[in-house]
Amino acid sequence: MTTIYHDEDANLDAVRGETVAILGYGNQGSAQAKNLRDSGLAVVVGNIDDSYRDEAQRDGFEVVSIPEAAARGSLLFLLVPDEVMPEVYTRQVAPYLAPGKLLCFAHGYNIAFGFIDPPEFIDVVLIAPRMIGAGVRQSYLSGEGFASFVAVHHDATGRARQRMLALAKALGSTRAGCLELSMKDEATLDLFTEQAFGPAFGRVLMTAIDTLVEAGYPPEAVLLELYLSGELAYSFLQLRELGALRQHALHSHTSQYGTISRSLRYFDLDPILKEKMRESLEEIRSGAFAHEWSTNREEKLEFIKKAREIQASLPLTRWEEETRRAFRIGEAAAKRSGPRPQAQPR
Ligand code: NDP
Repeated sequence: MTTIYHDEDANLDAVRGETVAILGYGNQGSAQAKNLRDSGLAVVVGNIDDSYRDEAQRDGFEVVSIPEAAARGSLLFLLVPDEVMPEVYTRQVAPYLAPGKLLCFAHGYNIAFGFIDPPEFIDVVLIAPRMIGAGVRQSYLSGEGFASFVAVHHDATGRARQRMLALAKALGSTRAGCLELSMKDEATLDLFTEQAFGPAFGRVLMTAIDTLVEAGYPPEAVLLELYLSGELAYSFLQLRELGALRQHALHSHTSQYGTISRSLRYFDLDPILKEKMRESLEEIRSGAFAHEWSTNREEKLEFIKKAREIQASLPLTRWEEETRRAFRIGEAAAKRSGPRPQAQPR
């Protein structure tokens, strides 16, 4: 049976009087620090000397080095990028761990695949938002909250679950709901979405663009029709609000009949998609992907750089830019967002 926690399952008293150390004031760190402070917890920020440090200071936080914050806090939120986390943990956090402290992750990756192995004498928990940092903050402010996967990986104090739930409540997550999973399952689901669902969906989109452009339709019209108008994004929102199948009812009868009757034509893609998705799932579960990504990191970063260069030179990128400019897409959002963009390309 799946366990889902809400506000009534959590009590902030479980962490009252303790200090939270936010280690890394990035996408998640900045949002989580503000939510925890607004919920009445004492927060100190640990960050390297960069523009995020200045931002944390502007936001009114006391900012110190990562080791100093790790030493001062008893509730340590490790919120640096996953690929640098093992190094940061080993050199700047582990030396300051002591019995009674709690280490909180926002993603199970490094624990699940053995890159970080915390000592037995601390609590280790997961509060993994299913939301980007900007959404973590916005949904706290709106009162809606955001869903998370949570896990107690190690309970040294006997109070790890109460502390984790108190922190999830202070973040605004128990307002929406926190579903309990193991760290490995959280990491696997997250990687599967990125490595199987994402690429498969991307192929479908690219094939649709190619089919229509090859048939002579103007690229701008094709992109607008398929996703740039925002209709697709709206329909995706309705998947959440109404359900994947019930959202069909929002569309015209012509649309409903066409979609349902022609769906059958694509059923024979299932076996091939499933085979590839199982392959991705197995690579993730076995740790083969994690091993691959942690080996020759410089080569992998070069691969990402090359892929970005190729992307930048593709006609699709030019078509998108022209269409976005012509329809003033993104102008309002750019005006709304402050110094930190809503979603940061990395
Ligand atoms: P960011 O990429 O935003 O970076 C976080 C901070 O770490 C930044 O201040 C960054 O500074 C700093 N940093 C980078 N490299 C180092 C280093 N070598 N030493 C010390 N500090 C460093 O991280 P995210 O907020 O995206 O991710 C944090 C955690 O949250 C991860 O575990 C991630 O999986 C998880 N998560 C992220 C989500 C998201 O929406 N981004 C969603 C759910 C979970 P600088 O950039 O200047 O290098």
